[in-house]
Amino acid sequence: MFIKEESVTKLSQQVEELSKKQFQPRMEKLKAIEQDVKIRMEEYALAEERLETGFICPRDLIVLEKPVTFDPCGHTYCKKCVDSIREENFNKLKCPSCLANVDYAFRNMQMEAVCEQFLKRKSMTLSFLEWIKTLKIHLPERD
Ligand SMILES: [Zn+2]
Ligand SMILES: [Zn+2]
Repeated sequence: MFIKEESVTKLSQQVEELSKKQFQPRMEKLKAIEQDVKIRMEEYALAEERLETGFICPRDLIVLEKPVTFDPCGHTYCKKCVDSIREENFNKLKCPSCLANVDYAFRNMQMEAVCEQFLKRKSMTLSFLEWIKTLKIHLPERD
């Protein structure tokens, strides 16, 4: 059997056309999904940033470390911040947020657990965001 070179070229062109027809819509769909995931993740990261403000120590502006809550005002600081507030006030404890006298300061274990979980989740979110940035679906060049 003898096939002319010309018809081989034509056949392979047809095959290419066909595969492009199937390939293109799938790629478009993937691309749309990729965009969607990126947008959603950015929204998620923003929401998490907003959430973070609730876990920030008013003194050193980091996520609370070993949080201590004042009674009766209810404001919360890191343990090390409470220690230095105490030192600065000659061993008396006054809340720097509201200037109320502190009767009692207790280690807030519940807040501590939440802060730990928050930090863990934050680092997961960040690494996921990094990974998503590297994800890039390329569409084949159009004719
Ligand atoms: Zn602090
Ligand atoms: Zn206070």
